[in-house]
Amino acid sequence: MDLEKSVRELAQRFARERILPQARHLDQDARFPWPLFREAAGLGFPVLVVPEELGGAGLGPRSLVLVAEELAYACTGVAAALLLNNLVADALLLSGSAHARSFLPRLREEVASYALTESHAGSDAAAIRTQAERVPGGYRLHGRKTWISHAPEASFFVVFAKVAEGREGIAAFLVERGTGVEVGPPLPKLGQKASPAAEVYLDGVLVPEESLITRQGFALAMRVFNRSRPMVAALAVGLLRRALDEALAYAVMREAFGRPLLEHQGVGVKLAEMHMDLEAARLLTLKAAELAERGEENALEAATAKAFAADAAVRGVSEALQVFGGNGYSEEYPLAKLYRDAKVLQIYEGTSEIQRLIILRELVRRRIWESP
Ligand SMILES: Cc1cc2nc3c(=O)[nH]c(=O)nc-3n(C[C@H](O)[C@H](O)[C@H](O)COP(=O)(O)OP(=O)(O)OC[C@H]3O[C@@H](n4cnc5c(N)ncnc54)[C@H](O)[C@@H]3O)c2cc1C
Repeated sequence: MDLEKSVRELAQRFARERILPQARHLDQDARFPWPLFREAAGLGFPVLVVPEELGGAGLGPRSLVLVAEELAYACTGVAAALLLNNLVADALLLSGSAHARSFLPRLREEVASYALTESHAGSDAAAIRTQAERVPGGYRLHGRKTWISHAPEASFFVVFAKVAEGREGIAAFLVERGTGVEVGPPLPKLGQKASPAAEVYLDGVLVPEESLITRQGFALAMRVFNRSRPMVAALAVGLLRRALDEALAYAVMREAFGRPLLEHQGVGVKLAEMHMDLEAARLLTLKAAELAERGEENALEAATAKAFAADAAVRGVSEALQVFGGNGYSEEYPLAKLYRDAKVLQIYEGTSEIQRLIILRELVRRRIWESP
């Protein structure tokens, strides 16, 4: 617990002193923040969940959500840029492949991407079409991925491709940059601009045999989601906390009808409700992360935390912007960026609708399981 407290304080200081002053500029720049990534690597943030003997911080999902909340308070785009290597690390660790483990030390200095989504297959991940063709000594990959975070900067990729029909035929591969994999230009997007995403083209890319890190690629992707969703929920918590702080400060300072906005109940109630959402979202996030930390099943809790926190962030930031009135709509004030940054929290790592389907599926499954 003391260790977690110091990690959280370290992240808080880094967010306040290093990210916050640059957040607006990095958003406008819309490029991967390499100098900050290198600084954060010195503190272990991109490799929090990587074991110490492999160059990581040797921490777990609980520390990851604490750090994610603090960094996201300053900027969710930068937080994603600094922390997504942990998602790749989880995929490498959970694959059980020795070859995959050998890539973990690289995550402190290099960026890696996780390539599952295709233009016709996002929510329905089992519908991917990327093929892995067996050839002497390895595989040839044919396909196209889209919305792959940090692909423009990645030096290697975890790529999901089919070795046989159906979801059981999905395998996961490690693909090095420089093997023929091509990356498109950064996709123009609404928010979180310091975390660029792009298409990835695999036109007959030849990878050696050991690149196949698991034949149970679909199961791996689902297990990785259970660890990454609490992290996304924590990004939402950080963003919501920031929106509340900004709205509170503004409501104390700004007057209308001769009184501070805060003293108008219609405004004050919005802030109280944001606080209720914030507290609930944080507790759900910690619960999902705690179960993951103990190695226990958490699909229900991870989906619940992710959906609740993302929806609360989008709702809360909209209300916070409303408190700012016309100034909320101006890029000169902080709310416009927070508003743009929030939306994708309901989309990536599984949409809010898909989380509800998972929640329902898990509820039914657990009830059946528990009934005598
Ligand atoms: C900025 C950004 C970064 C991303 N980074 C990555 C990454 O690094 N790696 C990666 O692999 N992917 C990444 N993604 C992709 C992301 O995971 C998908 O966009 C997401 O899963 C949704 O898939 P889709 O876009 O194909 O939407 P669709 O699946 O086409 O869904 C469209 C709409 O229909 C709804 N819908 C679909 N099916 C159902 C259903 N059964 N019931 C109810 N509603 C449904 C969805 O909720 C959504 O509202 C990223 C996306 C973005 C925007």
